[in-house]
Amino acid sequence: MYIIWNLTRVCPWNCAFCCVSAVYAKGKERTQIIAEQKKKELSFAQKLGVLKMIAGKNMIIDFSGGDPLYSEDDLAIVQKAIEFLPPEKINISMTGCELTQSKIELLKKINMVEFTLDNLPDRENPFRPRGFNRASMKAMRRLVESGIKVSAVTILYNITITEENLRSIYAWLCKNGIQEWDILKYIPVGRGMDYKKIIPTDEQYLFTMKFLRSLNGSTHISFQHSLRVIEETSKCHATINSFGVLPNGEAIACAWALDRNGCTFDGFQIGKLPDESLDVILKRAREKLGFNHQTSYCRANLCAMSMQQHKERI
Ligand code: SF4
Repeated sequence: MYIIWNLTRVCPWNCAFCCVSAVYAKGKERTQIIAEQKKKELSFAQKLGVLKMIAGKNMIIDFSGGDPLYSEDDLAIVQKAIEFLPPEKINISMTGCELTQSKIELLKKINMVEFTLDNLPDRENPFRPRGFNRASMKAMRRLVESGIKVSAVTILYNITITEENLRSIYAWLCKNGIQEWDILKYIPVGRGMDYKKIIPTDEQYLFTMKFLRSLNGSTHISFQHSLRVIEETSKCHATINSFGVLPNGEAIACAWALDRNGCTFDGFQIGKLPDESLDVILKRAREKLGFNHQTSYCRANLCAMSMQQHKERI
């Protein structure tokens, strides 16, 4: 089982369609914004408590955010995770901002580091801030040079799904020794709820998966399970294979099930860490909250789409 743990909502980037509605903190106000945000998150001691619970359960942690390596106390949690868990149990999804040598040394002790790369910098993308892709690419190259396993993540939407875009990313990944390329479906959650028009159709997704499977190169291509749900080769992971933990300790059935304010969709709240044990939370989710089986559809996507339809009706 794997846990997507959004350590913080703080992020040095302000992507228009951020799926967790991250809180932008950069420039003069950075310290103040981070301090304000941290008041709404678990304390360091509480996060440590959550970490110890997870470490005792043989689960994989995917640290995410926001940027989980952007503030000192979150970095300290990742450092503790390295003490408590074997390297193969820790993955990190981060951004290319402020990659220092000490972060690189830390990342040498985990399994895989993920960066989002939706397109190369020569292509216009209004959803990503200026410099975002370039920073990811620079960081990826530095980590590969340091012998760290790196994965690129590309989300498919109207701008990114073109063959030309995907071919150019793949060529760059192969040339730069990136080991994995993970392709994601666009789930209209977080601030992304407001951009329904950019979502490809199921036919487009299936066509694109076929195209990507035809590419040959050194970088391994994998498809997120929510895409494979469309081609009926996978099922929903919510609570059965994975669940999410939010910065305030809320446990949620799927890490993607967030609205435009970063709040959990109704019906996806399954508990609170570290107040409750993981066993209690998962047992209740499966026995009482309806997460006792894997659906053949993406629960978060269905919920987001129906919320959107409801909004359009009123
Ligand atoms: S709700 Fe969707 S994204 Fe979440 S686990 Fe299920 S298939 Fe995956």
